[in-house]
This record gives sequence, structure tokens and C-alpha cells, in this order.
Amino acid sequence: MKNIAENLEKVKTGIENACAKAKRKNSEITLVTVTKSANFEQIKEAIRLGCNQLGENRVQQLKVVADDLAASALQSPQDAELYAKVKWHMIGHLQRNKVRQLLKITEFIHSVDTLRLAEEISKSASRLEICPDILMEVNCSKEPQKYGVPVGAAIHLAEQIATMPNIRLAGLMTMAPLSLNKDVVKDAFARAKELFDEIRGEKISGPHFRHLSMGMSQDYETAIEYGATILRIGSAIFS
Ligand SMILES: *Cc1c(COP(=O)(O)O)cnc(C)c1O
Repeated sequence: MKNIAENLEKVKTGIENACAKAKRKNSEITLVTVTKSANFEQIKEAIRLGCNQLGENRVQQLKVVADDLAASALQSPQDAELYAKVKWHMIGHLQRNKVRQLLKITEFIHSVDTLRLAEEISKSASRLEICPDILMEVNCSKEPQKYGVPVGAAIHLAEQIATMPNIRLAGLMTMAPLSLNKDVVKDAFARAKELFDEIRGEKISGPHFRHLSMGMSQDYETAIEYGATILRIGSAIFS
């Protein structure tokens, strides 16, 4: 088995060092452990090591793992206690017809990038009598990307989401372009931070607007430098 404990230690040390360099507190950072490349044994191992914020980018897979954990918990009271602390983050592209199913498992969605998706979430949430926290996914890279609202349209969409009754805009999410050029990555994170500060400054969404989800295995140290509060890390932990 790959050494998840060792990998996790390395990531944690990387986070600590990046925080020290950026003069930020470790406690400002939430690590979301992305499980899409891991098998069930590895996921359980990560949970045992204290990873209880888990992220998946497909609803189907998220549901499979959540169900497996629930079944596993029935076998062992000790595991049940651990698994009860698990919180799921939906981090990938979300189709409107999967929203209801997802909201029954998790209320934290990082990938809201259209008005229609936000409306669907608010509508389904109202039927379930919940008010999920969501992040708006923004395309901060200069290249066209498949998902994410363009920076120029982000404020307007944030204003529209903020008026919806059963949804709480809790921050922004972005993915840096896949590039070995550090400046390209830095530009994208800087743009996300600027937009984040602007939306917060204009009080479009109230005090719960406080999360900036950015930074993956390759670029989380840079993301911390640019104000990330949530890191989404998979391969650095599981490979
Ligand atoms: C897979 C994935 C991650 C994690 O990427 P790693 O490079 O494995 O750390 C983060 N965010 C999203 C949206 C992903 O799909």
C-alpha cells in the first residue's frame, strides 16, 4: 500500500511552511482530501489519519463512497464514530439532474458556475428545507476553460445567487491552468483573490462569504500565498 501517512505528513509540512512564508495561520486553511484516484481501503486509511473533509468530482462516485462508508460504519462502532465526522465536498462539474441526489448527501458544492444550476440548487434545497453553502466556480485563467464563470460575468452572477432564498454563497472556487509556468498559475490565483476581495468588499453576500477554494497537489503552496482558505489535494496524498 502506498504510504498515505507519509504523503499526508509531507503535505501538512508543505502547508505549514507555505503559511509561515505568507504570514498566515495554519488554522485558516481547510484541507479537502480528494478521493477520486483512491480506492476504498486508501480512503478509509486517510480518514483514520484525520482527513475528514473529503472531495469528489462526480456525484455517482461520491454516493458510492459515502454509501460504502455508511455500510462499513454499521460493522464497527469505532469506525462509525470516525465516519460520522466526514464532510463531503462536491468539487466537479455538476449536472442539474443530479442536484437533488447530491443534496441528500452533501450541502457543500464548489462548482456552481451558471444561473440555471444555482436556481436548481435553490429549488431542490427549498423542497428539502435546507440552505446549502455553495462556492461559485470562476475561470481565472486567460485560456478558455470548460467550466467556471468568466471573471467579467462573476459579480453579476454573485449578485443573482445572493438573492436566492435557499442557497448561501460562501465564496469562490478556481482551478489554475495546467501549466509548468509558475507565473501563469500565480496570475490565475491573483485574479481569483482580487475578485474574492471585491465581492466581499461590496458585501454582495454577507459575512458567510469567506472561502477561497484553490490549490491542488501541484500548486497548493502558491495558492496559500494568494489567500486560499480551502485546498483540494488528491494525488499528493494518494500516489
Ligand atoms: C482532481 C481534482 C483535484 C485534486 O487534484 P490533484 O492534482 O490530484 O491534487 C482538485 N480539484 C478538482 C476540481 C479536481 O477534479
